[in-house]
Amino acid sequence: MAKNIGINVKAPENECNDKNCPFHGNLPVRGQSFIGVVVSDKASKTVIIKREIIKYLKKYERYERRSSKLAAHNPPCIHARVGDIVRVMECRPISKTKSFVVVEKLGRIDEIKGEE
Ligand SMILES: [Zn+2]
Repeated sequence: MAKNIGINVKAPENECNDKNCPFHGNLPVRGQSFIGVVVSDKASKTVIIKREIIKYLKKYERYERRSSKLAAHNPPCIHARVGDIVRVMECRPISKTKSFVVVEKLGRIDEIKGEE
């Protein structure tokens, strides 16, 4: 059984035995949460998330799009792939570059295409 991780997300349908899984292992989540798109799933149990921040610049009266990339842990029960829109949540550092974990899949980027 997946445990309640303290935030309002749907628990994954699959089970896994990853100790760094917030639902089935022993990985507490806390802090920031945001939504991004998976741009790389080459490494095992790691995905690269691209997050876009749209900021209004008053001086130029236009919007600025900034994007940043970060690595997040991808538990086997969630198994996010390139093009998935996911919610990530801050956790303790899992490796040198990972201190976020994917907690929910929200959809596919090709379903909401039109921009970019
Ligand atoms: Zn799991």
